[in-house]
Amino acid sequence: QREVDVAALALNPRHGGPKNLPILEVCLDDNDSESMRRQKEKPRLVILGGGWGAVSLLKELEPENYHVTVISPKNYFLFTPMLPSATVGTLGLRALVEPIRRIIHAVGGHYVRAQAENVDFQSRLVEVSQTDCNGNEQRFYVPYDKLVIAVGSVTNPHGVKGLEHCHFLKDINDAREIRNKVIQNLELACLPTTSDDERRRLLSFVVCGGGPTGVEFAAELFDMLNEDLIQLFPKLLRNEISVHLIQSRDHILNTYDETLSKYAEDRFARDQVDVLVNSRVREVHPDSIIFTQKQDDGTIVTKQLPMGFCLWSTGVSQTPFCKRLAAKLGSAQTNRHALETDTHLRLNGTPLGEVYAIGDCATVQNNVADHIVSFVKRSLTWKHGASAVDTDPSKLHLRFNDWRAIAEQVRKRFPQATDHLKRLDKLFAEYDRDKSGTLDFAELRELLVQIDSKLTSLPATAQRAHQQGQYLAKKFNALARAVNSGRLIRELAKAEETPDVDAAVYKAFDYKHLGSLAYIGNSAILDLGHGRGFAGGLWAMYAWRSIYFAQSVSFRTRVLMAMDWAKRGLFGRDLMSY
Ligand code: FAD
Repeated sequence: QREVDVAALALNPRHGGPKNLPILEVCLDDNDSESMRRQKEKPRLVILGGGWGAVSLLKELEPENYHVTVISPKNYFLFTPMLPSATVGTLGLRALVEPIRRIIHAVGGHYVRAQAENVDFQSRLVEVSQTDCNGNEQRFYVPYDKLVIAVGSVTNPHGVKGLEHCHFLKDINDAREIRNKVIQNLELACLPTTSDDERRRLLSFVVCGGGPTGVEFAAELFDMLNEDLIQLFPKLLRNEISVHLIQSRDHILNTYDETLSKYAEDRFARDQVDVLVNSRVREVHPDSIIFTQKQDDGTIVTKQLPMGFCLWSTGVSQTPFCKRLAAKLGSAQTNRHALETDTHLRLNGTPLGEVYAIGDCATVQNNVADHIVSFVKRSLTWKHGASAVDTDPSKLHLRFNDWRAIAEQVRKRFPQATDHLKRLDKLFAEYDRDKSGTLDFAELRELLVQIDSKLTSLPATAQRAHQQGQYLAKKFNALARAVNSGRLIRELAKAEETPDVDAAVYKAFDYKHLGSLAYIGNSAILDLGHGRGFAGGLWAMYAWRSIYFAQSVSFRTRVLMAMDWAKRGLFGRDLMSY
């Protein structure tokens, strides 16, 4: 770890910017060292957020090139993949968090505990807010030369009423509250004054959302109820406790390979986790959930489920800050779910090379349409021989049945495009009728692009945020090296139009899907894409643990994780609420 001198930041008494707020600037004392003085000359890199995207950027960034300031309301990085384990005490909360200051120290940057409220793209100022020691909100500007927006997402309410009666699982405090609520319900259920009906309601745990987070929480809860409850709460009968999982689609883990999601469903059926598919929550009451369920004959039935605990985990949506930026950028931002960037991760509608957006808050053009077309070409080459494609691709005709076979492969290769492929199939069928069974590549591509800009969106995962953070760090490092060596100046001098600096120094971002993992209760599944995957019992669970153990953010968190697992193995979980 290199020691880097850091010049201090201080509020400039001179106000400025469109709202005439104080400006946070680099300040130097007369006796500051030469290296500190050089700090002032460096480009100011401001990073909004302290999650997966921001931290992987910080870890790869060469410290001598930028004056780094991280702004985030939380002063820790949270290792989200293991968060469901913390809700039932399998892991302690400390094993999942790392102080953001410890991470920033390596690049000699600053941390400001504040929240970004807005950005003035013309003056290159981020407006931030902070609550001072008197409880008053203070606002000021942070100037930047380069800005990275990595503020993540918020839980998607889907317009459902009564979500104040639900718990969410996004942050460390959520995990603490869930653990307390689960234990509180178990204690209340044991009271001699609690009626049978009330006990069954208190012990009815409902999870809304059959994605990885909902499934992993249900699995952890089930493990805890089975492994620790019988010993510590002997008064409770196991058959009075129920775990329900409500999923709107026809399968849980529907972005995973079908055989793996079926494996998870069978496992849950065996463990008596009640999986309710084709079901949509309409309203949440303090003591029950109203949902509709599509029956096999297509009719919709409304049902009511008594509950003592409800987790709402049904996907993510934009933060208010990102919505504000999207509205400000007008027609350059048309996606309602995330900020749109180009393939170099630059925020659409802002001056080139100044503002980037990564992670859950952003969507990137990943040229999925191009990938699909080249995949189709490769498949046809394999089927009909190289000459069929190489001679004149635009003349090649593709029959609907060929397309169906190829689409299956594409589905496996691009799990994120599943929904869009279904629509594509439909469009294809119509096209097929009209054009008597043929379609050429140029038109295929046109069709893919037309369907929806969402076709180009990537999954909101730590994996993507991590790859994007690393990508930006490598690009910023390359940029600084090119500027220092004078190479960039020479190359830009040759450019005829407005120079694209990013493209001149580094390739475009290309997402590589390395697979998806999910814990399903003393067993785990691993989907590697391309139709490959594994599912299994204890060995898979240990593989799952090893992968996340290796990915954990620091040596300190790895030690704490190992200690927590050992502690749980020896003494069981800590079933206390505090
Ligand atoms: P985050 O990691 O959410 O970080 C956002 C940061 O921005 C936070 O520090 C926040 O405090 C800060 N912030 C918010 N608003 C502002 C603001 N206005 N100004 C400044 N800072 C702000 N993904 C996987 O790939 N595998 C998994 O197994 C997995 N499991 C998960 C389990 C759970 C329970 C959850 C909740 C998520 C899981 N994910 C998983 C998804 C993964 O956590 C996210 O995709 C990832 O965190 C996105 O990274 P990010 O940097 O975009 O945002």
